[in-house]
Amino acid sequence: MKKVNIAIDGPAGAGKSSISKEVAKRLGIVYVDTGAMYRACAVYALENGIEISQEAIIPHLGDIKIDINYNENGQQIILNGKDVSDRIREQDATIGSSKIAVIPEVRLKLVELQRSLAESKSVIMDGRDIGTYVLPNADLKIFLTASVAERARRRFLEMQQKGMECDIKDVERDIEFRDKNDSEREFAPLRCAEDAVLIDSSDLNFDEVCDKIYDMVKKIL
Ligand code: C5P
Repeated sequence: MKKVNIAIDGPAGAGKSSISKEVAKRLGIVYVDTGAMYRACAVYALENGIEISQEAIIPHLGDIKIDINYNENGQQIILNGKDVSDRIREQDATIGSSKIAVIPEVRLKLVELQRSLAESKSVIMDGRDIGTYVLPNADLKIFLTASVAERARRRFLEMQQKGMECDIKDVERDIEFRDKNDSEREFAPLRCAEDAVLIDSSDLNFDEVCDKIYDMVKKIL
């Protein structure tokens, strides 16, 4: 199979990660979750009592070492030698990741890692700026979105299934907070690349979205 790089961008809760994971599995290629990297940086700050601001974070950037491992459970995220794959999903890491993602120096460090992962192999990479900034020459770019209400509903169900206590109104508020931070930041904001295919999944189910993307990749191949 020829090498392909696929970029999947979109706002929080649009289903990017579960869809990317499934399409990567069908194609037998690697899935790279870039949000997990921002989350890991936020966990570093939270666990070391560092304020999430540009001045406070910059002196510590050299101490943050992120590694990605792949095993049968998918992507494992390692922060300074420790597996933080579960820790990064907690609420404080979710909000923290959105704040830390505004800092250009943090982005530059993570973009370097993201580009190196895509250089030698086929990947499907999800995030906010993959098609516009990280992999501008990606073979296929998708911008996946859905209404705020639908994204909040899906995220709420997912959290309930995991046994996490939550209120749908709080989930909706978090999504709106992250949408605003992601689209209003100056450096590599969330936006649809000019050459991306826009998919609104509000009225599509999981399989329909996966099939659509899978078919597009097959055409390229
Ligand atoms: O995708 P996920 O929700 O896990 O991402 C966590 C946070 O990381 C997002 O709220 C966003 O602010 C940031 N992010 C980003 N650019 C990416 C991926 C994630 O700014 N490529």
